Amino acid sequence: MAPSIPTEQWAQVIDKTGGPVQYRKIAVQQPGPDEVLVNIKFSGVCHTDLHAVNGDWPLDTKLPLVGGHEGAGVVVAKGDLAKGVEIGDHVGVKWLNGSCLACDFCQQSDEPLCPHALLSGYTVDGTFQEYCIAKAAHVAHIPKEIPLDEIAPVLCAGITVYKGLKESGAKPGQTVAIVGAGGGLGALAQQYAKAMGLRCIAIDTGDAKRKLCLEQLGSESFIDFATSKNVVKDVQAATADGLGPHAVILVAVNEKPFQQAAEYVRPRGTVICIGLPAGAYLKAPVFESVIKMITIKGSYVGNRKDSAEAIEFYRRGVIKSPFQVVGLSQLQMVYDKMQAGEIAGRYVLDTSK
Ligand code: NAD
Ligand code: ZN
Ligand code: ZN
Repeated sequence: MAPSIPTEQWAQVIDKTGGPVQYRKIAVQQPGPDEVLVNIKFSGVCHTDLHAVNGDWPLDTKLPLVGGHEGAGVVVAKGDLAKGVEIGDHVGVKWLNGSCLACDFCQQSDEPLCPHALLSGYTVDGTFQEYCIAKAAHVAHIPKEIPLDEIAPVLCAGITVYKGLKESGAKPGQTVAIVGAGGGLGALAQQYAKAMGLRCIAIDTGDAKRKLCLEQLGSESFIDFATSKNVVKDVQAATADGLGPHAVILVAVNEKPFQQAAEYVRPRGTVICIGLPAGAYLKAPVFESVIKMITIKGSYVGNRKDSAEAIEFYRRGVIKSPFQVVGLSQLQMVYDKMQAGEIAGRYVLDTSK
């Protein structure tokens, strides 16, 4: 029997850039021919959602906007052309809600670079609602044995850091510095790095994040950027031979580390930029960059294959990252804590509350 779908639902909506976010009832949409309608059970809150509210980036959002792009739920309706997914399947609605599948980038499985990409919770309504639309070709398939609250943060944070670690080229036994280690992406980055055989140096601030990184997430050292007298020296000293980490994964929401990483990365090392602080610029000294032969790269979410691989790591039980569940109605509280840098790990919203 097909599930019954209400005509109205609870959602968190902004009407203008800058907010506030409003918890209110809106209509449930019907899926188009190549789309599915997903009953979102849980959605993680990514710092990207806060950038969207604050209008931090040189790319406009749709308005009014339902944010959210770490949505885990159950398919309740599908269009006639929606292939490879059935009603009742557990799926994830990711940042990449859809892409054209025909352009030069889509043909090479670089669909995040598609000029026609649809972005959940940014250019199309996202997962801070009970029923969300996504292109069938792009939903992530979630094995039914994985709890939907647990997998939600993997759907953006996990996929993104897993892809970034692959892009870094770091090999088992080598060391990566995770900058912004106590946040949502950073916490998962340490777990994926460990599962991939890498050693981690965590960089963030405060005792709660220090404890989390060293005792739960598997980092071998922690550098507090707020109290360190010399972050560059401290990061290098944390590597066995003092020459610095083989790779740096930048997931901090602050410009400074984007202007510091090239100084402490190891010769031949790679700096991976993932965090997107407002109005920020990268900086690197030309002399050291040349004579150290360093690589600086951007990394942006992941494709469908990266997504499936990141979920499979989770299914195997090798990824454990802290999260707290609160009701969808509590989104503003989560944004306030995020703005203050007070979240260790991730908040996940239960759409039924
Ligand atoms: P978060 O708020 O959970 O975590 C950010 C962390 O950075 C916090 O723990 C904070 O204490 C730390 N931090 C701040 N200043 C720092 C500094 N100077 N040095 C070290 N750490 C510092 O955010 P999140 O959800 O993990 O997202 C992180 C960033 O990644 C955001 O800008 C988000 O938009 C971006 N993002 C990018 C992609 C992509 O595809 N490139 C995907 C998802 C998120
Ligand atoms: Zn995200
Ligand atoms: Zn395309």
